[in-house]
Amino acid sequence: MIIFDDKVVSVFSDYGIMLPVAGWRARKIVDQLGGDIASPSGHFPGPVLDIQQTLSFLGKTGDVIGRSDIERVHSPAYVDALFSDSPDGLTRQLLNAYELIGPDGKPNRYEPDKALKPLSALFDKILAQCAGSYLACAAALSEERHFCYFLAGGNHHARYDTGAGFCLINEIIIAARKLQAEGGASLIWIIDVDVHKGCGSAELVSFIRSGVNPVPFEDGCDILTLSIHMARGWPLDSETLSGAVQGRAPLLPSDVDIPIGEGEEALYISRLEQGLDRLEQLTPQGAGPGIAIVVDGADPYEHDELLSSALMRLPLDQCVERDMLVYNFLRSRNIPSAWIMAGGYGERAWEPPCRFLQTLGACRASRV
Ligand SMILES: [Zn+2]
Repeated sequence: MIIFDDKVVSVFSDYGIMLPVAGWRARKIVDQLGGDIASPSGHFPGPVLDIQQTLSFLGKTGDVIGRSDIERVHSPAYVDALFSDSPDGLTRQLLNAYELIGPDGKPNRYEPDKALKPLSALFDKILAQCAGSYLACAAALSEERHFCYFLAGGNHHARYDTGAGFCLINEIIIAARKLQAEGGASLIWIIDVDVHKGCGSAELVSFIRSGVNPVPFEDGCDILTLSIHMARGWPLDSETLSGAVQGRAPLLPSDVDIPIGEGEEALYISRLEQGLDRLEQLTPQGAGPGIAIVVDGADPYEHDELLSSALMRLPLDQCVERDMLVYNFLRSRNIPSAWIMAGGYGERAWEPPCRFLQTLGACRASRV
């Protein structure tokens, strides 16, 4: 099934943030798929449900993500800041996470005089996206095809004690840890194919294992992370600089990292295939994952418009081949999967996830 809800989509210009993110991207995909939100009875990979309908489907009510879910993943001091309106509180953390103040102290991609809403109001959207990712996991476990695609979300850069890279909180690890705390899964795979390294997810998992995060995994639980990404460029270059300046620890490795250098696009699929095999080898015998969360960024696409995505240019067919490789790998092993749409910038960022979902539907139809 597919989760789509206009209410969780962040229209960044409403907050004065000038990023090339099309607020209509998810709606365009649903329109192209012929989905009907009012009558959620579409064919595979549908039906298309909004958040409220997904809650009903799962028999849940009320707020999905609360402070305690964030406390499981981020540092106590950082969580305190997020829920504070002090000078170092929520607004300061948002300015930092969205890189809205440049090194010169002047606004960067930020025009607060054009904002229609206060920056702090963005937090509600971020929590709603986090809820959507968690619900996608719960739905993938519950629905008959064990597949759910959430047309939003993907905040994978947020670190233990700070936001980063347009990510205030790490929605991927928050969703995974909530699922584990509720007994929904023990081992969880994160397969991150966004063009930018899943640096926050790698750090958070490492910090749980090493005890830096005082909230341990539940008995028998773990998260294994795979990230395939640009070998250079954000965050791998900028972090070296900012890490030195801020005295932060360097970026930590994922369990499986697959850096792709400039001009190596032709190797992408075979190296991803090897990486998936490696992920499986790292998985203890007889303890396969209860679910895989796929961070399905469209920003490796050759038509992506974000400057910091420019060092990888996958054609559309290769983006779809990537997704079908991951989908078939998981399906052949009966592993439920929750797909989070993640990064994608500019006028054509809707095309890779749309073509993937159309391809899934066509494959299914041809089998029937
Ligand atoms: Zn990205």
